[in-house]
Amino acid sequence: MNKLKLLFLIVILTVSTSVNAKDNIIRILAIGNSFSEDAVEQNLHELAAADGHQTIIANMYIAGCSLERHLNNARNDKPDYRYRKIGTDGIRHQFNHMTLQKAITDEKWDYISLQQASGLSGCYDTYTPFLPALIAYVKSLAPKGCKIIWHQTWSYAKDSSHDAFKNYGRNQMQMYHSIMNCAQHAMNDNGITMVVPSGTAIQNARTTFIGDNMNRDGYHLNLNYGRYTAACTWYDAIFHKNVIGNSYIPNGMHKEIASACQHAAHAAVLKPLEVTNLSDIKADEILYKIPSLPIDIRINDLISRMTLKEKILQINQYTLGTNNIENNKGVEVKNIPAEIGSLIYFPTDPELRNRMQYHAMNDSRLGIPILFGYDCIHGFRTIFPIPLAQACSWNVPLAEQSCRVAAQECRMSGIDWTFSPMIDVSRDPRWGRVAESYGEDPFVNATFGAAAVRGYQGRNIADSISIAACLKHYVGYGASEAGRDYVYTEISRQSLWDTYLQPFEKCVQAGAATLMSSFNNISGIPSSANHYTLTEVLREKWGFRGLMVSDWGAVEQLINQNMAQDLKDAGQLALNAGVDMDMMSHAYDNYLEELVSEGKVSIATLDEAVRRTLRIKFQLGLFEHPYTPVSKSEDRFLRQKSIRTARQMAEESMVLLKNDSQLLPLNQGMKILVTGPIANATHDLLGCWWGHGEDSDIEKINESILKEFGAESEVRYLQGCDFDGTEESLFKQVEKLARWADVVVMCVGEKGAWSGENNSRADIGLPDVQRHLIQRVRAVAKKIVLILSSGRPMVISNEAAMADAVLAIWHPGLYGGSSVAGILSGRINPSGRLAMTFPYSQGQIPIYYGRRHSARPHQGFYKDQTSEALYPFGYGLSYTTFSYGTPTAELHEVKNGDKFDVTIPVTNTGQRDGMETVFWYVSDPYGKITRPAQELKHFEKKLIKKGETINFTFHVNVSRDFGYIDSEGKRFVESGDIMILVGDKKLKFTIK
Ligand code: BGC
Repeated sequence: MNKLKLLFLIVILTVSTSVNAKDNIIRILAIGNSFSEDAVEQNLHELAAADGHQTIIANMYIAGCSLERHLNNARNDKPDYRYRKIGTDGIRHQFNHMTLQKAITDEKWDYISLQQASGLSGCYDTYTPFLPALIAYVKSLAPKGCKIIWHQTWSYAKDSSHDAFKNYGRNQMQMYHSIMNCAQHAMNDNGITMVVPSGTAIQNARTTFIGDNMNRDGYHLNLNYGRYTAACTWYDAIFHKNVIGNSYIPNGMHKEIASACQHAAHAAVLKPLEVTNLSDIKADEILYKIPSLPIDIRINDLISRMTLKEKILQINQYTLGTNNIENNKGVEVKNIPAEIGSLIYFPTDPELRNRMQYHAMNDSRLGIPILFGYDCIHGFRTIFPIPLAQACSWNVPLAEQSCRVAAQECRMSGIDWTFSPMIDVSRDPRWGRVAESYGEDPFVNATFGAAAVRGYQGRNIADSISIAACLKHYVGYGASEAGRDYVYTEISRQSLWDTYLQPFEKCVQAGAATLMSSFNNISGIPSSANHYTLTEVLREKWGFRGLMVSDWGAVEQLINQNMAQDLKDAGQLALNAGVDMDMMSHAYDNYLEELVSEGKVSIATLDEAVRRTLRIKFQLGLFEHPYTPVSKSEDRFLRQKSIRTARQMAEESMVLLKNDSQLLPLNQGMKILVTGPIANATHDLLGCWWGHGEDSDIEKINESILKEFGAESEVRYLQGCDFDGTEESLFKQVEKLARWADVVVMCVGEKGAWSGENNSRADIGLPDVQRHLIQRVRAVAKKIVLILSSGRPMVISNEAAMADAVLAIWHPGLYGGSSVAGILSGRINPSGRLAMTFPYSQGQIPIYYGRRHSARPHQGFYKDQTSEALYPFGYGLSYTTFSYGTPTAELHEVKNGDKFDVTIPVTNTGQRDGMETVFWYVSDPYGKITRPAQELKHFEKKLIKKGETINFTFHVNVSRDFGYIDSEGKRFVESGDIMILVGDKKLKFTIK
């Protein structure tokens, strides 16, 4: 070939492709960190392929790698990189331990990009000493014609917690300016002619309806549209093709979003170093109305359209309908604004709701549906036993099913949200609200609370039979001093974490949509103004994104609690601490506008509260289905399956506390006297928060006993006395009948309204009149069965001593009657166990099983009476007997991270089938922070047939079950000995 020909050929080859002449494949290598890796992921390959380009794309990745480190790696040939390469076939290959040299010489690259770590991108003195040398190094190895380009990256969200964001004063615009300046310098000083402005593109995208949602964790790119936007930028820059209209859209991405990303990328390539103004955020389309868009995008779009007034109304809750909640009589708002966020709804039918919702949807500018809430605590119309009783069933799936029934009745009646479950650990039975809790143990509250969340919210909270749950009361309300309601609570940080926060953490993990801030004052800082619990723990540590509503009037009550000077101050304190919605204090609606204009509450804080309120509305599907279809009562309430569930819960929650000489079950053919104020009761069996339960649906105990025994036995009834008062004139007649009877069934206890909110009692014994009745009957009766109905453990030491058998039935809901009768007859074998200790006397309170050891275990007892409980936690009898075999464990020496099984065989050694609940406790004999003597870690209830042996297994997770948390919520596992206690057995383990 002569020289001229050769020259001609070289010219042709150089001209025909911009870079390598060998083929039409474009080869790109990005040297950088996660931002580059995200940008040149699969999306770039697909975008190019959609336009008919073949590519080989690779990236060299080290997390957060700076230019300095890249240079050092180059100089020392360090194999520190992960190398990911996508071939022309689109298949990704990954190689670890790559060196820069190998990667640069791996292909005939057309483009090699460099970038700075995002934290340093805006500090030019981190570029100057390294970038020129690094470029020289790359050039020395790269093929001729390969372009060295600059990848301009940064992506912090405005609330990013990334440390390096401080370099920019945690301000996106400041970050943008400094990074852009550095990029400009980097290019000028080093003769780089091309930049891929992914950072600018991300910032551009933020000005669309996508808003500040480009990151997955505040600094990495969101895997969907964040990555896609960066890839679009590369495509547009490298291929010089307008990416707008490119047909490649990742699977599942809405076309509106893809289009916004493409526009953002193209605009960035046109003006790579231009500061994008964030105040430009706006949308052309009404995106919040598009159901297929991600909820966060719909929320951002909606918020961007809302006025200050609209935002403020959104985070208020008023009432609608006639309030049947005695403790809460707020000022009813007559002309409810169409923009109101939420209403507590009292009717049982949806018509009024629908009319109100119509007002919201049609008379407001934006048509935001109202969220309707109600206290459905243990049933809406099908009333279940009170929550404390449900815990005594130890039947978690049954509790879940009960909440499922409640959810269905609620949602079909116009309720979207219940203020339940209450998971306040409750150790003082004088406090009336123990009825609403799952008792004294954190694990039990956590377990039943999570079941309630699953039951209420179902698999899909948006379906027509699910509602949002609300964990309450956040937090520590159960520690109310001396069992009084609404008062001060003294809670150390250690107890806060050990005892009170635990159930909330578990139930947040179970997916609870909302929480309610409590009335109590936690060691000086009221819960509803407590930034630590409301924000640092709940939001920052646990990552909860749902709604926090105040308890009724809790914001205003900050004044009574001597924290706020007036209602305006109260509003400021609550919202800034993390209470999103104001239930009935009228602090937000009255004062937020002023507070915002005075700069005392930031728009960002307000927006966040609005965002959380809107989120639950979107999740519930209210924007798509704002109205509740009207249906007949019989289609909604008391369905066969609902009744079966409520009945089973009543049966399983009753606890047999005493059964001397196997008096129970009663023989047929006996003469039975039924007496006492509970015997003929209806409404009082429902207990507190009876929802819309109707007295006519309630089974009476005396009638049920007659039905159960009437054919072969003789049953008589005489009430004898009222719940309280001094009327004892019928006692003589009762005595007469008691003499006649073989057994007297004495139905005593508390009225339904004696427990629940604002129903603390200093004396939790039976009222005198009932005690007298028992004494009089004891003097003449052959046998006494005491049926105790109450909303709390009571002090009944004397009365229990007088009775031959005692059955605690709590407030059992609609189907207590037949359950009591069935247990008396033996049709039902009782299986309930106490979830809360029965004290021997009032002076023992608080008394609970999870105490820490005393310094002198053999001293310090009461001098005047026993220090033991009358009936401890976990106690309860059956008509059969169980014996526990030898437990076996898969491991005995364990370490943090281990998981293993411990199994125990349990035999039904009695004469009939029965259900046994096996309780697994952990006991840690010594430690840096002392532990309670025993802590329940697992329980399980199973039916064991007569004569049968069944294995029960505890799947131990060393960190979860042998570890514990310190006063900042940090989990520890300490080496040393630890015990598992099960039944009467003990197993020792050594933690290495
Ligand atoms: C109670 C809450 C209840 C709220 C709404 C308050 O007084 O403490 O438990 O959910 O009222 O009725």
